[in-house]
Amino acid sequence: VGTTTKPDISREKSAALYEKAKTYFPGGVNSPVRAFKSVYGTPLFIEKGDGSAIWDADGNQFIDFCGSWGPLILGHNHPKVREKVMEVMQNGTSFGAPTALENELAELIVKNNKFIQKLRFVSSGTEAVMSAIRLARGYTKRDKILKFEGCYHGHTDALLVKAGSGLVTFGETSSAGVPKSFADETIVVALNDKAAVEEAFAEFKDQIAAVIIEPIPANNGLLLQEKEYLQFLRDICTKNGTLLFFDEVISGFRVGFEGAAGYYQVKPDIITYGKIIGGGLPVGCYGSSAEIMGNVSPDGPVYQGGTLSGNPVAMAAGIAQLTELLRSGFYKDLNKKTEEFTDAIQRFATARNYTFKVFTIGSIFWFAFTNKESIRRADEVDAASMDKFKKLHRELLNRGVYFGPSGYEVGFISSAHTKIDLEKAKRAIFESLEVVF
Ligand code: PLP
Repeated sequence: VGTTTKPDISREKSAALYEKAKTYFPGGVNSPVRAFKSVYGTPLFIEKGDGSAIWDADGNQFIDFCGSWGPLILGHNHPKVREKVMEVMQNGTSFGAPTALENELAELIVKNNKFIQKLRFVSSGTEAVMSAIRLARGYTKRDKILKFEGCYHGHTDALLVKAGSGLVTFGETSSAGVPKSFADETIVVALNDKAAVEEAFAEFKDQIAAVIIEPIPANNGLLLQEKEYLQFLRDICTKNGTLLFFDEVISGFRVGFEGAAGYYQVKPDIITYGKIIGGGLPVGCYGSSAEIMGNVSPDGPVYQGGTLSGNPVAMAAGIAQLTELLRSGFYKDLNKKTEEFTDAIQRFATARNYTFKVFTIGSIFWFAFTNKESIRRADEVDAASMDKFKKLHRELLNRGVYFGPSGYEVGFISSAHTKIDLEKAKRAIFESLEVVF
């Protein structure tokens, strides 16, 4: 292993594309974290992906651990997903009328997941959460929502409060443009703090429609919760007539086909999915019991619709991807591969006394520059350590390894990552850690 910094990769074409993009888009991007604001250099413009690899406009090749921020659990351009999408596209791209493909994807989800009976497809995670919050309010006839500091639920107004993800990356906690009266309906408490939740229920008795949580919080680093805490939330919600809302946009179909609900065996009342169910195309969904979903329009009074909802091409990608996930041993193999990878990195760091921990669950992992054995709350993440991530990110790119450009974001392993890929990536990570420390 070498301990010296590597020369920077060429970014001429990416830099030129970025200059042009800045004339069209705020920050040159269509989603803020992509702008590389908290890491070194201009953003890389990606030209293609195949399996575990991506290539940028300058021809640099990387082993990708971002996976489009989670959807690509089979890797890029998976042949089964591509074939199904191309087959369906032969017949047109959108009708604004029901298609059999919606039934097919819903059946795959509902028949293999005991936590939802009925669902509604939308086009993004944000839209799923926004709609499900409306449903929770409509169903309970209450206005307040309790959320947790560091959990991100998309950019819907009332939830952009202490929200992690791009906000924390840029040192903010909440967004401008959210009326105070909207945010007033949102109660925010720290994760892993039972007393704070109890106090909120005491103060706002019979007013809380839903407690929303990422059961595997993965937008402010990876803040793993204990099963017992999630069960506590289940119980206090039941006692107070409040709906427990698991936002599984990341964890759904990632830690297992039944997501975090199945992993911890804690039953939420409402679930949102996104990312993986769209196979890399824009899809989200919210689901619940048939009784609660009966409140959604046109069966009930809670309105929600969408021009492209249940889009056939997106359904096709989801069907192809979820079908692969149901193959016997899929999650066992993926999770084992991840565990071997992250264990080796932790052993390397521990042997050298680095202030460095790899937190992991399923095929999600996060590099934390800490000596803490566990980090369960957003305020336990050391903002000053993000300088180290910045260095690490640069070294990794220069060694052909791509991570999302923020130390608050997690990494994902896909079934397309081969043993050889992971060996190469490990070597690059070891060398880069030597440079950082
Ligand atoms: N919920 C969670 C837990 C997420 O991680 C995200 C996005 O990262 C969202 C909701 C919003 O999803 P989208 O970006 O598809 O709108």
